Amino acid sequence: MSIAVLPNSPDTAPQMIDPLDHLADKLFHRMGADGVYARTALYEGIVERLAALITSHREAGTEVMRFPPVMSRAQLEKSGYLKSFPNLLGCVCGLHGTEREINAAVSRFDAGGDWTSSLSPADLVLSPAACYPVYPIAASRGPLPKGGLRFDVAADCFRREPSKHLDRLQSFRMREYVCIGSPDDVADFRERWMVRAQAIARDLGLTFRVDYASDPFFGRVGQMKAVSQKQQQLKFELLIPLRSDEQPTACMSFNYHREHFCTTWGIQDANGEPAHTGCVAFGMDRLAVAMFHTHGTDLSAWPAKVQDVLGLQPHVAAGAHGEGWR
Ligand code: AMP
Ligand code: ZN
Repeated sequence: MSIAVLPNSPDTAPQMIDPLDHLADKLFHRMGADGVYARTALYEGIVERLAALITSHREAGTEVMRFPPVMSRAQLEKSGYLKSFPNLLGCVCGLHGTEREINAAVSRFDAGGDWTSSLSPADLVLSPAACYPVYPIAASRGPLPKGGLRFDVAADCFRREPSKHLDRLQSFRMREYVCIGSPDDVADFRERWMVRAQAIARDLGLTFRVDYASDPFFGRVGQMKAVSQKQQQLKFELLIPLRSDEQPTACMSFNYHREHFCTTWGIQDANGEPAHTGCVAFGMDRLAVAMFHTHGTDLSAWPAKVQDVLGLQPHVAAGAHGEGWR
């Protein structure tokens, strides 16, 4: 770990400095909770450019859907999320009682007490990944066409993993391309995207490697799931050494869920077999942080090729009548 420790002075305790901390003031405004930040125009501009770059690589025949930051609790439960990551889930709660009960909760708060004991869960959770809502929608359309279906989805996601590190947020943006089809459709899709995503990372001037990976499954049973996931090479990640080479940050993932979502939702391929699914996920906030960490916070000093790929430079077009702005 390349964490520097500031020299201890008599009146200050030792402070841990993270290599990403110097970016905080330029990219974010604090909002009173770790991993939840307001974003500056500088930062948001790059998130938008990255999103446009990812859009420019969208395959033909891909249906676009944008999801809100919440989704049906019942759908997420049915997807098996509680079996894998119950510790990361955020659930919407509300004061669902009678007027008298709700007033009593507010009065308790006014008197310095705890109002939250009156909360009860709503039928919504905060979406922990962008692709969960797409499977029941696809299922509602009946059997898959030959070649399967492809979607471009995005959502603000929530994972209850508070951290002071700027690359581990509780609320972050996820963009995904999803494929639902035969095992071959999904294998081809993932293969294509692993190649394409590395080309994107290269164009962005990022240092990276791709490795197989596992999800942070909860508990002891989860550790076994993680081993099996790695053995079957169901998950790959594009890793960028933001903090150190030993502990790189996963900025994209390439996931093969096999038939999990299709047996859950009853999605059949053209032959009547449970279909398979896979997704490629782009962590938009991690990618943006990686760009600033790699190239600095002065956009005009970014490599010309990177500026060009993101459309940051007024481009000199070689026309018959001289130069023009693009
Ligand atoms: P995953 O479903 O865990 O593979 O997540 C997909 C992508 O979302 C990851 O590759 C990251 O880029 C991003 N991501 C996941 N968790 C976080 C987090 N806590 N903060 C920021 N980005 C995240
Ligand atoms: Zn996904």
